[in-house]
Amino acid sequence: MNTQLSAALPEAIASKYTAERVLSVYHWTDRLFTIRCTRSGGFRFANGQFVMMGLLVEGKPLVRAYSMASANYEEDLEFFSIKVQDGPLTSRLQHVEVGDSILVGTRPTGTLTIGNLRGGETLWLLATGTGLAPFLSVIKAPETYERFERVVLAHTCRQVDDLAYATFIEQELPQHELLGELVKPKLIYYPSVTREPFRTTGRITQLLGSGRACTDLGLPPLDPERDKIMLCGNPEMLHESSALLESMGFQEGNSGEPGDYLIEKAFVSK
Ligand SMILES: Cc1cc2nc3c(=O)[nH]c(=O)nc-3n(C[C@H](O)[C@H](O)[C@H](O)COP(=O)(O)OP(=O)(O)OC[C@H]3O[C@@H](n4cnc5c(N)ncnc54)[C@H](O)[C@@H]3O)c2cc1C
Repeated sequence: MNTQLSAALPEAIASKYTAERVLSVYHWTDRLFTIRCTRSGGFRFANGQFVMMGLLVEGKPLVRAYSMASANYEEDLEFFSIKVQDGPLTSRLQHVEVGDSILVGTRPTGTLTIGNLRGGETLWLLATGTGLAPFLSVIKAPETYERFERVVLAHTCRQVDDLAYATFIEQELPQHELLGELVKPKLIYYPSVTREPFRTTGRITQLLGSGRACTDLGLPPLDPERDKIMLCGNPEMLHESSALLESMGFQEGNSGEPGDYLIEKAFVSK
């Protein structure tokens, strides 16, 4: 935490947020960027959770829900963000620079954690767009690989350039000096795009519903006993996937009751 910045926050704001210093900003495309910032020593979260994050605008917090893209053992915090040109927050947030201050809430929450899943063999992480963010922390967590024999990360975007973090997932993480041994034999990356040619095209619900995803990956058809699923994406994808999974006998879980699949919205449509 940047103690100096936080000390300058009005009391009512400081009770809910800390001010964190931006350490790096990376623009993937004109619609996507990543921010890394300092992390308060007291900030604890479970991989897959989200927090309110944003900016102080005219003395008031302008914040939105954001999943942590960094794992809970990392020193810094990372957020993977959309740029909505007329969005109240991201029209401003996309211009932050190293050294600027951002607000991070003190109460992370969310159901997308492996503790809310029943045991199984294969963990499927299904994301569209920035819905990848919570899974970046999940795939960096050793416990993910201790609990599951294989982890499939399916990321669907409109265009190939939107497949942010592809190099990290495919090349850097499996070579990581500490995690590589766990990740390499178990993590399977399955990217697809919907609006231009690519090795895999189509929406994830079509790829799963038709059985193509399992065939492509050499895996047996989805089965609630064996497969456990987490989804984070646009509202339509969540609605369709949930109907598909329920028809196959999967039961949704939550913080009170572990299940076969878990859902988190990547954003809310207005
Ligand atoms: C639980 C949860 C977790 C979230 N995690 C993230 C995250 O990790 N990264 C992130 O970028 N956003 C995330 N969001 C969305 C985020 O809260 C904001 O909506 C986003 O930052 C845009 O804020 P805004 O004020 O600029 O525009 P808003 O007024 O919030 O949104 C305007 C419109 O832009 C569209 N939109 C908003 N966010 C997205 C998005 N992520 N992808 C595509 N279209 C979008 C929607 O149509 C929305 O109605 C999350 C939302 C929820 C509910």
